[in-house]
Amino acid sequence: MQNVMQNVVQNAAQNVVVIGSQWGDEGKGKVVDWLADRADLVVRFQGGHNAGHTLVVDGETYALSLLPSGVVRGGSQSLIGNGVVVDPWALLAEIRRLEAQGLQNLSEQLVIAENACLILPLHGALDRAREAQVSGQRIGTTGRGIGPAYEDKVGRRAIRMADLADPEGLRLRVDKLLQHHNALAQGLGLEPWIADKIVAELLAIAPRLLPMIKPAWPILEAAQRNGQRILFEGAQGTLLDIDHGTYPFVTSSNTVAAQAAIGAGVGPKALSYVLGITKAYTTRVGAGPFPSEQDNSIGERLGQRGHEFGTVTGRKRRCGWFDAVLMRQAASLGGLDGMALTKIDVLDGLDEVQICVAYRLDGERISHLPGNVDAQARLEPIYETLPGWSTPTEGLRDWAALPPACQAYIERLEALVGVPAALISTSPRREDTIVRRNPWE
Ligand code: IMP
Repeated sequence: MQNVMQNVVQNAAQNVVVIGSQWGDEGKGKVVDWLADRADLVVRFQGGHNAGHTLVVDGETYALSLLPSGVVRGGSQSLIGNGVVVDPWALLAEIRRLEAQGLQNLSEQLVIAENACLILPLHGALDRAREAQVSGQRIGTTGRGIGPAYEDKVGRRAIRMADLADPEGLRLRVDKLLQHHNALAQGLGLEPWIADKIVAELLAIAPRLLPMIKPAWPILEAAQRNGQRILFEGAQGTLLDIDHGTYPFVTSSNTVAAQAAIGAGVGPKALSYVLGITKAYTTRVGAGPFPSEQDNSIGERLGQRGHEFGTVTGRKRRCGWFDAVLMRQAASLGGLDGMALTKIDVLDGLDEVQICVAYRLDGERISHLPGNVDAQARLEPIYETLPGWSTPTEGLRDWAALPPACQAYIERLEALVGVPAALISTSPRREDTIVRRNPWE
């Protein structure tokens, strides 16, 4: 046993964890696609189909929600880990949609962890009913049932993928689940859920899912032993983390890098390089504090140039300046080794650019995000102003080609955050990337 374990560690290749370092929508799709080219295995480890990743490959745009981005490349295996909550109908629809776009045999490349929990229609209905009832305090969820599904997981009443292979046990589990959900439905004025219908609907799709459902950890263990490269693909962002984000305006999973180990089924030492995808400015969808928000012509300009509309819900994203206070905190929480700085070209043409470097809270200067949400909402940003640049950066692939003011902006961000910009993305196309350090090397 001792020898086997030594083997695992010694032969482990560099594995890369990619996470969002802000409030999601940092442009993870493109960077994950760039990295997936050299990955043997791409693993999703949290969230569900609330995520939205847009990839542009050979001029074709692919919108992914639940599937790991590696599926677009072929060649690498894809795994949906236990930390993900899976809506099986959404998953099958996404597979069908991508196959119609020309990607072949997706289900053969995909493994779903047998211990991943399911999102059922009752979760989406509950999510939307709650959002409709909470006047003035909406989270602005994606309405996909993510929160209610995680609640059932922690409440030890969720249906898991492995349960689809056991119709009798499934019926008992659905009955137990409905004891809870029908009480809630009654309280919210919803129709009661019917166990027979839920079981029948699940058993109808089970034959398509079961070939993909497997224990994930032996696959990951073998990959490590064989020196394969694993790419852990995060969704959402650090400030939406259930523990470390702007609670309660957060998603219901941990989005920080450590979750990659738990939500995939590997030990923490398997996570060798953490790349934080970081937009060159800041955006947020949904409600909640956003100290550097620009609810003005600057915000409008960033939103228009950056096409800041949600992939999943189509909602307009709120836009603001880069917040180095939050980013420094995110870098520490995630243990970031590098940033992939995205959408730098969106800042082209501004006379000056601002960076939030500290806050004032009730007259006092602070340099961290306070834990209380009301205090978060009272934060006043303190800015540093840098010269802008007029030379377009879109499509540039060399650091030396960037205008000096743009280089100075990036270097200032690196100094404030304390993490180097390993990759700089200058357009949605994967080739338009300035590589200062390749995370695989
Ligand atoms: P939920 O994840 O649907 O419960 O939504 C909770 C919060 O997370 C809301 O503010 C959503 O807008 C936000 N959110 C969830 N997924 C994403 C994402 O992929 N990008 C950006 N925001 C997200």
